[in-house]
Formats: sequence, C-alpha cells, structure tokens
Amino acid sequence: MRTAVVVGAGMAGLATAGALSRAGWRVVLLERGERVAAPPTALVLWANGRRALESLDPDGGWSAIATPMPDGGVRRPDGQWLVAPRSRAGAGPAPCVVHLEDLYDALVAGLGDRVEIRTGFAVTTVRTGRRQRPAVGDGRTLIEADLVVAADGIDSPVRRALAPESAAVGSGFAAWQAVIPGYRVPRLTDEQRAGGETLGAGYRFVSIPLGERAAGKGGVYWVATAAGAPRPEPPATQLALLRRWFADWHAPVGDLLAATTPDDLLPQEVRELRPLPRAYGFRSGTGGVVLLGDAAHAMPHHLGQGACLAFEDAATLRALTAEAAPGEGLGTAIEAYSRLRRPRTTTVVRQTRRMSAVVQARGRLALRARDAALNHMRPRILGGHAQAADWLPPD
Ligand SMILES: Cc1cc2nc3c(=O)[nH]c(=O)nc-3n(C[C@H](O)[C@H](O)[C@H](O)COP(=O)(O)OP(=O)(O)OC[C@H]3O[C@@H](n4cnc5c(N)ncnc54)[C@H](O)[C@@H]3O)c2cc1C
Repeated sequence: MRTAVVVGAGMAGLATAGALSRAGWRVVLLERGERVAAPPTALVLWANGRRALESLDPDGGWSAIATPMPDGGVRRPDGQWLVAPRSRAGAGPAPCVVHLEDLYDALVAGLGDRVEIRTGFAVTTVRTGRRQRPAVGDGRTLIEADLVVAADGIDSPVRRALAPESAAVGSGFAAWQAVIPGYRVPRLTDEQRAGGETLGAGYRFVSIPLGERAAGKGGVYWVATAAGAPRPEPPATQLALLRRWFADWHAPVGDLLAATTPDDLLPQEVRELRPLPRAYGFRSGTGGVVLLGDAAHAMPHHLGQGACLAFEDAATLRALTAEAAPGEGLGTAIEAYSRLRRPRTTTVVRQTRRMSAVVQARGRLALRARDAALNHMRPRILGGHAQAADWLPPD
C-alpha cells in the first residue's frame, strides 16, 4: 500500500490527509500541537474553494456548514457607498462563510479511522536524496513514506530546507478577527445584517453574518486590518485601541467592536512568502515531497484566498497521484503538481498584492484616486475574487 506522511493538521493538512486516505493511501498525520484545534474564527470560501472541497469529499456535507455570503458592498468610513451591493448572480457556487470549528469538525470526520494522527510531533528535519525514500523527523524519530506533504504553514521547516530562497516576511499589516456569538450580536438593521466592507486610510473593516446552523449560531464574523506593525499589547488593550481607531466609522462598526470581548479577539501579524518557492514538488527516491497550503504560498488575506488555494492544492495532488505508483509514476505526478500549482498561485498572489495597494492607500490624493478608481477596479481587482474563484478541479 502507498504511504504518505502529512505534516501539519491545519485546514490544508486535514483536507489532504482525508483525501489521500480515501484514495487508498496509508496516511500518518503529524501535528506539533497537543491536539487538533480550530482557531476561534471563520473564513470565506469562494467558488474555487467550494469546488475543491466538494471534489475532495463529495460526502463532506459542506452545504450544511456553509452560510451563503450576501454582497454587502464597499463603503467609506462615513458610510458613503464606494461600491453599492449587487446581487451575486453568476456562474459557479456562491461564496459562503464557514465557522472554523464547523470546518475542522467536517475535515476531521472525513479522516475516518484510516488516518493515524500523531499530535505533539514537531517536525524539525526532512530527508531527501536521489536514492532515499523521503522522511521527516523530530530529532528522535524518523518517519519514511512514499510521499511527504508539507502542510505545516508559513514557518514550515520542510520548506525552509527544500526552498531556502523563500522567506516569511511581514506584509506591513496587522489583522484582528473575531466571531461575536449570536446571543451577543447587537440589534442590526436588515442592511447592516448583510455585512460588507469599509475602506479607510490604511484601515479596513469587513463584517459577515454567520448562519443559524454555524458554531456561534447567528453570530457575526468580522476582520479589521490596519497598515503597520502588529501590536504587542494584551488583547484587552488592543480591543480598546480598535474601538478608538474605528470610533467615527459608520454603524454598526462601533457596535460590533463594543459587543466583542478580549477573549473573542484573534490578533495576527499579516505575513507572506517572498519570493514564492521556485518549486512545490521535490523528487526523492521512488517518491518525493510536496509543499501545500501556506507552507507553499502564504499571502496577505485581502482576497480571502489562502485556504481556498490550499484546498485546490489538495484536490490537484489527489487527482495527479490517483493512479501513481512509487517510482517513475509518482515522481512524474510530483513534478506535474509543481508545474500546475506554481503558476496558479503566483497569479493569485499578484492579484492580492494589487489589493494590498488599495487597502494601504493613505493621504488625501491617494484616497481620492482610490475612491474614484474603485468602480472601475471592481471587476478587475475586487472581482479578483471572481477571477481567482474561476478554477475547476482537475479530472
Ligand atoms: C486575517 C485573515 C483572514 C483570512 N481569511 C481567509 C478567507 O476568508 N478565506 C481563505 O481562503 N483564506 C483566508 N485566510 C488564509 C487562511 O487562513 C490560510 O491560508 C490557512 O489557514 C492556511 O492553512 P494551512 O493549513 O496551510 O496552514 P496553518 O493554518 O498555519 O496550519 C499549519 C498546521 O501545521 C502545524 N505545524 C506547524 N509547524 C509544524 C511542524 N514543524 N511540525 C508539525 N506540525 C506543524 C500547525 O500547528 C498547524 O496546525 C485568512 C488569513 C488571515 C490572516
């Protein structure tokens, strides 16, 4: 039986381990944490991410955990529309929001009992070589397999060893995410309940309603972004700062921040890989190593595509390796994975960087130019969602 080691039990690792195991691989999933746990937040699944998940696990019950996302439009902090809401008519599945607890539960359920999960295992080394089967280790134990999948996030030690040209760097932003559970959501008008995006000078606030079936039932997920370094203060102080920064913004931004508690808050430095690794696949012996998810292409969150691309990676890997036996077949599949995924993710990273410039705009002239351009940019940049979402799983 073909064997795979998947490093990292985040979204990317869980999705890949489940898909490989359903395709008949014997899989060991290594996680450095003491347990597999979802961060207490949510994320947007664009059409490409939904298609990828459906193709990875048609029985995953994704529509039961995903809430369709209304288009809340884009505003200025004073509430004036930059881009009015539109209906989301178009090809492909509608974008939706999922609570990560629900997503992780579904991905863990998809592992079944065929995946061996080892928690508390922090990979520190990777072994590759022309004549050697690939292996990873934690300094005490070495685990060999036909295929090693590095899904261990932006600081991946596997990537650092195999693609040292690529480094994790700050993107010049800090982000804060929170889910306000339904019972604490302030009273909102219908228009406010639809959520939406607001762009200020170097600041951005996005809110999205979660469905009644989501963890945090009927809650609201929000993401705030500010240009600059992450804050060192404790969450309560950071929340006080956010309330001050966004104090004059249109309703319900202040009300949502007032309803948020320090325990809800997930502050993060926004980081990315620069440059992207030259390759995502490395042959070794009769198999090899692939980079997947943030380990391969971490990028700023402005287009909300990081996890969607990770699911695309997993779906592509599963399809390419479906019939591949260790030896020439698997080696060729690993090279094909790199050839397909590298250009695709490079394009989305480029679109994300254009969006970074929009979010980062500061100063009167820059803001005026941004606001004037936004309507034209909608199809090109904000619609980058649509462009990026225009992806179909390989057969
Ligand atoms: C503010 C914000 C909003 C976002 N919104 C969206 C969105 O709306 N839509 C979207 O698609 N994406 C979004 N993203 C991006 C998305 O969150 C990431 O792309 C995604 O979490 C990457 O998943 P991953 O599994 O590759 O990495 P991670 O989530 O980082 O998981 C890596 C896992 O590997 C484990 N690990 C790390 N090192 C080791 C090791 N040495 N040994 C063993 N295990 C290890 C970690 O503990 C972790 O469990 C957003 C990101 C941010 C910051």
